[in-house]
Amino acid sequence: MNFYIMTLFPEMIEQGAKNSILGRAIDNGIISLEAVNIRDYTEDKHRKVDDYPYGGGAGMLMQAQPVYDCWRAVEEKIKEKRGSKAGAKTRVIYLTPQGKTFHQEMAGELAKEEDIIFLCGHYEGIDERALEEIVTDYVSIGDYVLTGGELPALVMIDAVARLAPGVLHNEDSAGEETFYNDLLEYPQYSRPEQWHGKKVPEVLLSGNHKKIREWRLEQSEIKTQRWRPDLYEKYALRKKLMEKLVKKNKALYADMSESLGRGRGELIYGGEDGAVVWDKKADVYMLSSFDKASAEKIVDQIPERIKDGQFILHEEWLLPPMERRFPVKEKMMCQRAVYNRDVSLPRSGEIEILQLDISWLPVISAHYHLGSEGYVEERLLSGAIFGAFIEGKLAGFIGEHIEGSLGMLEVFEEYRRKGIAAELESYMINLHLSRGHLPYGDVIVGNEASMKLQRKLGLKVSKEIYCWAIVPSDAAL
Ligand code: SAM
Repeated sequence: MNFYIMTLFPEMIEQGAKNSILGRAIDNGIISLEAVNIRDYTEDKHRKVDDYPYGGGAGMLMQAQPVYDCWRAVEEKIKEKRGSKAGAKTRVIYLTPQGKTFHQEMAGELAKEEDIIFLCGHYEGIDERALEEIVTDYVSIGDYVLTGGELPALVMIDAVARLAPGVLHNEDSAGEETFYNDLLEYPQYSRPEQWHGKKVPEVLLSGNHKKIREWRLEQSEIKTQRWRPDLYEKYALRKKLMEKLVKKNKALYADMSESLGRGRGELIYGGEDGAVVWDKKADVYMLSSFDKASAEKIVDQIPERIKDGQFILHEEWLLPPMERRFPVKEKMMCQRAVYNRDVSLPRSGEIEILQLDISWLPVISAHYHLGSEGYVEERLLSGAIFGAFIEGKLAGFIGEHIEGSLGMLEVFEEYRRKGIAAELESYMINLHLSRGHLPYGDVIVGNEASMKLQRKLGLKVSKEIYCWAIVPSDAAL
């Protein structure tokens, strides 16, 4: 992803971004950052960019002309780079104390953009007419006034960039921290074991990962309840629904409960009659209507503005109201497979399994047909695809889908019937267990080979059939 920062102080941005994780991501070409000096675009012969505000008042104002011309140059550059892929206007974020307050969810949403332009004000701000013409989002980093937009831009870039695929190597390292689950992070300790008479909590030294996870969750809950009761209230609601879904049908609702549990699902609706969860990362709506009579009401919980996308309908009676509201173009009927135990699966040790990097894109795209090349690229950059190697050669691969299920399993023709699929899936199941997740997958109805594999590995396959309903964007026109 590429950040363009329009500023009067480019060196402030360059200095601030060149270190640590951000600096490394820039050096590795995962993100790019360009500070563009607004002053270079002034038509004033003394290179002036500010003037007095009409009507009087304190301070100076940045004039419209240099800001506008600077933006045009940046926008032109982006268009040229994108070539035929040039689509919607690039988002232009004006940092201002008057904007919407920046938060983690906004960072996640911005991390999906390919290009973002930041506009940093100075003095008393910028001539309103330039803002009206170029700005798409007004964002503040808090209720206080700073002297310029450079520090806020750096704050936002830091928060957004670390969520971009590939910046933090492990997809999960951003997945456990504060705000991800409406919970504050648990307390952490490093060496020495004893310091100022204080000992590291015993459980952390036990090596029992399950116990450690439980302790951490408990600590997070206590801390959040004490320090951020507003967040805790949201968390408690989700937890209640999760428990209900697991009790009703652990396998069928594994996608919803896992999305909520992994801190990526937003509870759109949760009641006695059903639930709607929006998985923010995958942008998938998961719907459940516990009784037939509520189906229409449940579909109505999908926000009005939603015109297309992917929907998981857990009960068959959701389909008629869904089709009345959306032009559903594709329906994929699936059964859910879940691995209910918490013991790892044995591995043969003969097949090496490694995380695949982006250089594997052509190979994986050529073999994976249920998603676009862009999807495979995003999964690779997120570190979510793993390959099985035999004598140094890739024999097959498996992945975690963007909404959290296991899938994308493929073993190349010449390597079939050697137990590689079972090895790959066992590896993924163990990986998910180590993260404290419930491993689950979608099996397309009628895929007997997959069904057999799931049963062989000890997964429970739901008898209920649910539907992935796809509404492509052009169908909405
Ligand atoms: N007169 C402006 C007002 O009252 O809204 C404040 C201008 S401020 C002194 C100068 C610049 O700093 C702004 O144009 C903006 O780019 C940046 N800035 C100041 N505080 C900020 C905040 N809390 N969040 C984001 N940007 C901020």
